[in-house]
Amino acid sequence: MGKLDGRVVLVTGAARGQGEQEARLFREEGAEVAVADVLDDRGRDLAKELGALYVHLDVSREGDWESAVDGVTEAYGRIDGLVNNAGILRFNTLIDTPLDEFMRIVEVNQVGCFLGIKSVAARMADGGTIVNTASYTGVTGMAAVGAYAASKHAILGLTRVAALELAARNIRVNAMCPGAIDTAMSNPAHLDPTGASDTEEASRALDRFYRKLVPLGRIGRPEEVARLALFLTGDDSSYITGQPFVIDGGWLAGVNVV
Ligand code: NAD
Repeated sequence: MGKLDGRVVLVTGAARGQGEQEARLFREEGAEVAVADVLDDRGRDLAKELGALYVHLDVSREGDWESAVDGVTEAYGRIDGLVNNAGILRFNTLIDTPLDEFMRIVEVNQVGCFLGIKSVAARMADGGTIVNTASYTGVTGMAAVGAYAASKHAILGLTRVAALELAARNIRVNAMCPGAIDTAMSNPAHLDPTGASDTEEASRALDRFYRKLVPLGRIGRPEEVARLALFLTGDDSSYITGQPFVIDGGWLAGVNVV
C-alpha cells in the first residue's frame, strides 16, 4: 500500500530539483503524477521514466494553467493534489534590483502560486491537498534576496487564506519553508550541461560552508523536502491546514555563541 494510492497530483517545476524528487517519491507511493515545467525535454524524459504525464506549464501564465489542468483531468479523470514548487531566485540588493527583475520573481513565485490555487482548487476533488513552496526567507529576512523574500512571504499569506476558504471542502493547504537545499538553485554544479562538474564534491563544499551556519551542519537534500511534501499531501497530516513548515536543519532556531 502506498501513501498516495488512488490520488492524482500535479507538481510544478518538477523537471529537476525538489520538484523532481517530489514526483519520484509520489510515484513510489502510488500517485498518478503530472510533471509540469517549462523545461520540456527534461520534464518529458522524467515523466517517461516515471510513467507520469508531462505538461508544459509556465506557472505565471493563466492559459497554461487551464491547459495543464485540462490535460491532467483528461488523462486521469480527476485531480486531488497540487504541489506549487516552481520558483526562481535572483541576487540583488533592493537598491540595485531592476523593476522588471522584481516583477518577474513575483510573477513566477507569487502569481504562479496564486494561479495554481485558483486553477486547481476550482476543479479539485473534495478532500484534496495543496502544498505551496515558500522558503526560510518567507519567515525571516536575508540580504540580497529582497524580491524573492517578499514573494515567499506572500506565499504564506496565500496559504493561510486558501486554507480558510477551502476548508469546507476538506481541501487542506500548507506551505513548506526550506532553508538551503542542494539543488541547482543553491548549487550551480547541478546546471553544468557538460556533466563535467563534480557535483558530489560541490555538495561536500556546500556542507562545509553550511556547517558554520546550520545546527545540523550541512545543506539539506531535495529528497528530504520531498518527504515533507509527501507528509502534507497524504493522510498522515489529515488535521493540519494553513501552516508553514520550516525544514532548515535548525537554521531558524537561533544562534549559538559558544
Ligand atoms: P531548481 O532551480 O532546481 O528548480 C526550480 C524548477 O522550477 C526548475 O525545474 C525550473 O525549470 C522551474 N521553473 C522556473 N520557472 C518556472 C515557470 N515560470 N513555470 C514553471 N516552472 C518553472 O530549484 P529548487 O531548489 O528545486 O526549487 C524548488 C522550489 O524550492 C522553488 O520554489 C524555490 O524557490 C524553493 N526553495 C529552494 C531552496 C534552495 O535552497 N534550493 C530553498 C528554499 C526554497
